[in-house]
Amino acid sequence: MKNLKNALLLKQLFQLKQLGYQYTDITPFKEDDLDLSLPGTLDLLQKQANQCHLCDLSKTRQKVVFGEGNPSAEIMFVGEAPGASEDSTGKPFVGRSGELLTKMIENVLLVSRNDVYITNIVKCRPPGNREPTPSEAYTCKPYLLKQIELIKPKLIVALGGTAYFYLTGDETSIGKVRGSIFKKEHYTVIPTYHPSYLLRNPSAKKDTFEDLLKVKSLMA
Ligand code: SF4
Repeated sequence: MKNLKNALLLKQLFQLKQLGYQYTDITPFKEDDLDLSLPGTLDLLQKQANQCHLCDLSKTRQKVVFGEGNPSAEIMFVGEAPGASEDSTGKPFVGRSGELLTKMIENVLLVSRNDVYITNIVKCRPPGNREPTPSEAYTCKPYLLKQIELIKPKLIVALGGTAYFYLTGDETSIGKVRGSIFKKEHYTVIPTYHPSYLLRNPSAKKDTFEDLLKVKSLMA
């Protein structure tokens, strides 16, 4: 699913399924629809995301939270979705969980937060901080895939089970899979707990510390 046309098709199929359709011969859009291919630079991709209304999260967001950091980062961190602080500032991981993520990066990996790239599975805040629906996640996923294609990270740290699932398709719980290495063609995914989970469960911080030591050992 590398372009928005495929994402739009998937979204429309989810909507038809919610309406009770099991089979459809409806043509979801015409071939001469607008070109929905994604631009080839991060700046242009961000501009496109900032105007995106492909899913219902656009109706309640304040700001699109595209992501930020080094455009050639070796390591990318991917969370689930923006929260309230991120929604109001347009920046990823700026609340309490953001402070913890920054400490994790700077104290364990010994690099500046500016040296990595940070983003989420969906770029707009789900109301009430609920988990994004599959329709929302798959509709937004082409932006993430394009970010990965342009930044070319060697390592992607999946923060939490939702991020891990949408990056790999593996439904294993985060408690079982954290710290393991999931090889993709051009990069490696390492899952660990989401910082907001660590704020609620401080005893799990030692596990994330171990996971990040593994990330550090894989850094060039
Ligand atoms: S969450 Fe993603 S697909 Fe949905 S409106 Fe925001 S940018 Fe577009």
